[in-house]
Parts: sequence; C-alpha cells; structure tokens
Amino acid sequence: MTTAAGRFAPSPTGPLHLGSLLAATASYLDAKHRGDRWLVRIDDLDAPRNVPGADSAILNSLEAHSLRWDGPVIRQSDRIGRYEAALETLSELGHTFNCTCTRKRLKGIGPYPGTCRDAEHQARDAAVRVRVNETPITYTDEVLGALAEVLSETVGDFIVRRRDGLIAYQLATAVDDGAAEITRVVRGRDLLDNTARQIYLMQLLDLSQPAYAHVPMVVHADGQKLSKQTHAAPLDDSKAAANLRQILPMLGLTPPADLGTSPELVDWAVAEFSLAALRGGPPSYRH
Ligand code: GLU
Ligand code: ZN
Repeated sequence: MTTAAGRFAPSPTGPLHLGSLLAATASYLDAKHRGDRWLVRIDDLDAPRNVPGADSAILNSLEAHSLRWDGPVIRQSDRIGRYEAALETLSELGHTFNCTCTRKRLKGIGPYPGTCRDAEHQARDAAVRVRVNETPITYTDEVLGALAEVLSETVGDFIVRRRDGLIAYQLATAVDDGAAEITRVVRGRDLLDNTARQIYLMQLLDLSQPAYAHVPMVVHADGQKLSKQTHAAPLDDSKAAANLRQILPMLGLTPPADLGTSPELVDWAVAEFSLAALRGGPPSYRH
C-alpha cells in the first residue's frame, strides 16, 4: 500500500459549508487521482472553540459527499505529547523564548518587535515564541508557483504555545503535516499565509516537508470568506450531488449532465482532476 497521503484538517467549530467542501474535495481528488491515501484530522486543540457534535457532523457530511477517508480519524487532542516533545526540542536547540507581552501591548505594531527575546522570563504565565530570522522561506505552491516569505518582516518571532498552555495551530500543524505519512497539503487559499511559518518549524524540527497547493476559496457576494462568523449556510447533506456540482467548476471540472449521484460525480472527478487547471485562476468564487 502507498504511504503517500493528503489530508483534510477541519476544526470542529461547526458543520461544513460550501467553502470547506471545496477544500475537502480538492484535497481528496488530488490524493485519489495520484493513488495516494487521504486522511482526515480533526484540529480540536482549541477546546473552547470546539462545538459538541461538530466532528461527527463533519464526518457524516464527508461520507454523504462520497469523500471517504483512509484509516482512523486523527485527533490533535490525542497527540499533545508529540507537540510538547517538539516544544522541548525547539527549546533545547535554543529556538524559543518566553514572552510576557500582553496582546494589548502588541496591538497594531506589526511583526513582534522582539521585546522579550533576551529577557529570560520564567515559563510561568508566559507564552512561548520561536525566533525567526531574515532568511526567506521559499517554496513552490503547485497552484500559485514559486513563493517566498521573510518571517522577520511579516510576523516576527511567533507564538508556538499560548500563555494559557494551548499549543498553537502553527506548531501542531507543522508536527502533524511533517510526519512522514503526510506528503501533500491541499487546502484553501485563506490558509496560505500560515505556510511559511509551518515550513520554518518543520525545518527547525528536521521534519519532512509536504508539497503544498492552495486552492480558491468560496466567498459571500460581498467578498467575505464563508465561515461560521459570517453565517455561512451549513451543507445540506441530502443535496450532496447538487453541492458537488456547485463546487466542481471552481476546481476546473465540468461534469457531464448524466452523472446523477455523488459517487458517480466523485469517481468521474478523481479521474479528471488536475491542479494545473487551477493555475492562473481566480483566488475566490462568489456564492
Ligand atoms: N484546522 C484549520 C482550519 O480548519 C487549518 C487546517 C489546515 O491547515 O488545512 O482552518
Ligand atoms: Zn514579549
């Protein structure tokens, strides 16, 4: 069996909407077109934001749309030991420092100004930040082409563990996507500006870097991203085929009219899918 895999990593903050279906479908089609495995990971570290039942609603929705994952569903909340070990490694290598700056103090001042870099604060009541530098992080996005980001200019030393102890999304994602089994990260363009930070952490931790592709987003008529905050409508699982017909054209695919069911549509799309078809396309689609 192949060990290459893509992944879909929803946060269980609410049901899927058309935008998350687009990301899930793109990642699924990319993996299956290549003959890879497709994993589902529930990004449930931010417990206060988790909505009870959202994880099973998401999984039911994926099944209803014929997006079937391989192996057991991965939960970040089961993997905290790995993230703590990664924090320990970063600290031993001298890449982290404790930061006591309040959010209020840092508000509106751009990249982290390095205030606590050399202060040697105690761990108690402090966030942990990772030191960044001026070396550009370069990578090739399979949709967007060659990209580069200088972290000292965009974000500065960034948080890997919050003051309340919560492992930051960037670290958990780097550790999980850097595991040998994940070889492809295909996700929405709304997540693009996290990629350089995640690659940087993988480099520091000597993890294997997946290939990246950022696909278009679905936005409301006024241009706002579909999300829980903007009251995106939950997917109606009983209209799976119609939902797929709405998003496949955003992935450069126009299914023949005689394909009636979601398994038929998905099988057809697996054969036809190509990330190359998205190159030069629009960053988002209004809905
Ligand atoms: N769990 C995060 C989200 O749903 C990010 C997932 C990812 O890195 O693909 O927005
Ligand atoms: Zn600080």
